[in-house]
Amino acid sequence: MGSMTIRIPISKPLLGPEVEDLVVSVLRSGNLAQGPLVERLEDDFSKLIQVEHVVAVTNGTLALEAALRVGGIGPGDEVITTPFTFVATINAILATGALVRLVDINYQDFNIDPTHVGAAVNRKTRCLLPVHLYGQMADMASLNDLAVKNDLLVVEDAAQSHAAQINGISAGAWGTGCFSLYATKNLTSGEGGLIATNDADTAHRLRLYRNHGMVERYNYQAVGTNLRMTDLQAAVCIPQMLAYPRIVSTRQRNAHLLSQLLADIPWIQTPVELPKRKHVWHQYTILISQDAPIGRDDLAKHLARRGIGTGVYYPRLVHEYRIFQGHPRVFKSETPIASDVSRRCLSLPIHPGVAPQEIEVISQVLHEVRP
Ligand SMILES: *Cc1c(COP(=O)(O)O)cnc(C)c1O
Repeated sequence: MGSMTIRIPISKPLLGPEVEDLVVSVLRSGNLAQGPLVERLEDDFSKLIQVEHVVAVTNGTLALEAALRVGGIGPGDEVITTPFTFVATINAILATGALVRLVDINYQDFNIDPTHVGAAVNRKTRCLLPVHLYGQMADMASLNDLAVKNDLLVVEDAAQSHAAQINGISAGAWGTGCFSLYATKNLTSGEGGLIATNDADTAHRLRLYRNHGMVERYNYQAVGTNLRMTDLQAAVCIPQMLAYPRIVSTRQRNAHLLSQLLADIPWIQTPVELPKRKHVWHQYTILISQDAPIGRDDLAKHLARRGIGTGVYYPRLVHEYRIFQGHPRVFKSETPIASDVSRRCLSLPIHPGVAPQEIEVISQVLHEVRP
């Protein structure tokens, strides 16, 4: 691996001098814990996604767990989600004591398919947890109808979809929206999470839960824990928030350019932005066809040799890992589409640090592939 220098990595945080200045100002203020900058981050994100309340927490995984707990999900309750996700989605559900029911995705957006959700609902079902993968939202209009019809809580795993929309409405406005600010995400504080909701009572209870149920010093109104974010973390993220519309349009420009350039390669299926959706292009994920001159994993190695980083999100479905096979609280159904996609998906770099000339290099290298 030593000689393999990746010149175009799959992700790279964009941290300018504004970030350095704000971080230094926090250090000099001496206010290292949760303070005014966390509040500002919450306000900025609330305006960005047009959702009334935002509560900052330690990370995206704990954002999901908090949203479920505050929503009343616990032992004996079933949560329906997708097996084609990062393991955090499943671990957050299991942490509440609830059961996980996995249903298949579709080829259009790689997200949970509403047509399978209806059949999976049973007496124990209490919550629908769609994951908005790669920066494009699941079909929330249909999922929301199912949730209303079956009286289900909706928690959105929007870890990869800051400010993505469907029908003009952002991720996080449909249910309790959970976002991650991990280092590789579209917006980052290194580690961090944001929970969005239009329900004032849910927001209030999330704030209590985040800080040991404390309304004022040593006055506890609920059982809680410590999920507080620090002002140092908020300072890393706030300047990116202002730049975010530009960050998304650069990702979109790169994605569109790459799709144009790859259009004549018959064995590559490029990703699409579906009608009425706003894709924020967290990942640009292609599918390699069965009859391609090269397999997915060899293609990834080939690109790495040429200095191009790639990612496989995700190489296996959650229930294919030994630890979840036969797990007493993880139930799977037939998920042929998710299985197929996990074997053929490959993400290519399109983040704002990738220049148009580098997109052309990626295209050239792919055009040169021979059996
Ligand atoms: C990143 C991610 C998470 C977890 O967020 P962390 O901040 O890393 O805890 C959850 N779900 C999905 C789909 C993610 O991509």
